[in-house]
Amino acid sequence: MHEDRTEVVVVGAGPTGLWTALLLAQAGIEVTIVECADRPAARSYACALHPSTLRLLHRFGLATPAIEQGRSIQKVAFYDGPNRQTEVSLGSVDAEFPFLLVLPQCDLESALEHALRASGVNVYWNHRFDSYRADAEDLVVNIEELGGSSGGYIIPHWETVVKAQRTIRTEFLIGADGANSLVRSRASLHSTHFGCRELFAVYEFQSDTSGDDEVRIVLAEETTNVLWPLLDRRFRWTFQLMQSEPNIESPEKERRAVRQAHQAVDDRIRAHVKHLAERRAPWFSAPIQDVDWCTQVAFDRRVVDEFGAGKCWLAGDAAHQTGPAGVQSLNASFLEADRFVPLLKSVLHEGSPAIGLTALSNEFRNSWLAMLGSNLIESCSENLTPWIRKRAQRILPCLPGVGSGLSNLAGQLGLTGFQS
Ligand SMILES: Cc1cc2nc3c(=O)[nH]c(=O)nc-3n(C[C@H](O)[C@H](O)[C@H](O)COP(=O)(O)OP(=O)(O)OC[C@H]3O[C@@H](n4cnc5c(N)ncnc54)[C@H](O)[C@@H]3O)c2cc1C
Repeated sequence: MHEDRTEVVVVGAGPTGLWTALLLAQAGIEVTIVECADRPAARSYACALHPSTLRLLHRFGLATPAIEQGRSIQKVAFYDGPNRQTEVSLGSVDAEFPFLLVLPQCDLESALEHALRASGVNVYWNHRFDSYRADAEDLVVNIEELGGSSGGYIIPHWETVVKAQRTIRTEFLIGADGANSLVRSRASLHSTHFGCRELFAVYEFQSDTSGDDEVRIVLAEETTNVLWPLLDRRFRWTFQLMQSEPNIESPEKERRAVRQAHQAVDDRIRAHVKHLAERRAPWFSAPIQDVDWCTQVAFDRRVVDEFGAGKCWLAGDAAHQTGPAGVQSLNASFLEADRFVPLLKSVLHEGSPAIGLTALSNEFRNSWLAMLGSNLIESCSENLTPWIRKRAQRILPCLPGVGSGLSNLAGQLGLTGFQS
């Protein structure tokens, strides 16, 4: 069996893996990045970048083209159904990038992949992480090279097959392999969960109006719903489904840009979105025209007890997740990688003790515990409006910020009693 050697293996070429690999390459660390899919995602998924992420991307010259490509949003407004209750402004969060940037995740992934390639690192597409073991010096990582095989006569089908097995000898392994992380389970890293899994239906569609430059969050009695104004007279509605609806796992990311539309199905989808919007957000009046895509997706509220074990580390959704409205998991990953990579460099190249990674893991975890709002109700300010007080725990994951950005936005609502 063929065996390669590298300093760091990154598993997963989602936004977190690509960004982490880019930072590693820029830091002069030899990196191999493997991805089981054959290309980047084709949908917008986590569709907004926080000011803190734009600041990081700016270092690589990636913020300006992203801003030209995306849509800047200045405000997040909160509704309880018909009534607008409160709002926060992104204006005071960051002097250089005082807005949230709506940018499809597929465009972010493409930009990061180009930047990574320009740094001399190519993603190994169709390469699936399987397992790893530690020997005296290194980690030995087992990778499967995937290929396709067509079968069937009456009903043709396409099967994924393992074409070859490879091992990579490495000094460090980073699992950026998403919510269902196999690296996390191979490393036996466990998570603390808060509350139940939340289920959402996501619909993106065209309209004849652009809408206002604000995200609208509807905190109904039992559900959180988000209206995103997108580019080119498009919108996204994310409706939370009631817990009694069937359980859904996190779906695989769609890689095909083309969606097969069926008139009758799309008519039903349009009628369904209209019906839900009328009930949950009666002020929404934009016509629902062509449906771009829709899906159902589940989100946990969780963080790993440790981000790392030995020479293995978790990043992005592999390490944490929260509700979709504030896009916190993706954006936190960018800040976390920016802290982690210099420390890893000092361990790998300068012989610094690995204990620094444990301290960083504790810091990240504490920040997530604060974000997941474990003790918010008890500690927040006395002067909250009753509307905010009742919903404080639900508002925090809806704010598009992490770290000081989140403190700023939460502070605008009087939610000052937590540290992140
Ligand atoms: C339908 C949908 C809607 C969403 N909407 C929102 C939203 O509104 N707001 C929000 O904040 N977030 C949303 N998300 C979540 C968001 O997409 C994630 O937070 C983000 O993708 C996390 O990035 P990541 O790089 O950590 O993980 P991922 O993007 O999941 O990337 C992980 C990568 O690892 C690869 N991989 C997995 N296992 C292996 C393996 N064994 N070997 C090799 N590669 C592997 C996967 O193929 C994938 O490309 C949504 C997700 C979905 C699916």
